[in-house]
Amino acid sequence: MSFFDKFKAGVSEAGNKAKSVVEINRLKLQNNGKQNEIDKQYQAMGRLLFETTLQGVPLEKADYAVHMERVLVLQSEIDANLQQIAELGDAKQCRNCGTTVDSDARFCPNCGATFDSAAQFRE
Ligand SMILES: [Zn+2]
Repeated sequence: MSFFDKFKAGVSEAGNKAKSVVEINRLKLQNNGKQNEIDKQYQAMGRLLFETTLQGVPLEKADYAVHMERVLVLQSEIDANLQQIAELGDAKQCRNCGTTVDSDARFCPNCGATFDSAAQFRE
């Protein structure tokens, strides 16, 4: 392989790495949104229980089944995203803000925290 080929290979490897970090952050953001929606479904179920109990009416499964189903769908979507994140691989989280950064990054592109070594990142 010529020097130039090696150089090109190195550049595209770095490009791919950056792409996976962006993709991992996108998936994590998506999961945060999905987790928020799960919390809203739980809230809706809690409110149903509260209101029906207050009115002395029994809570029917049909009343909350739609929320249960939505939570299950969201949970499986989150799992699928986590799977994809694991497959995208070589990235770690900033301790300060949780942003996913390249495993050999020296500072966090989101919060600017600097890192003396890779040891300051958590897996
Ligand atoms: Zn950060």
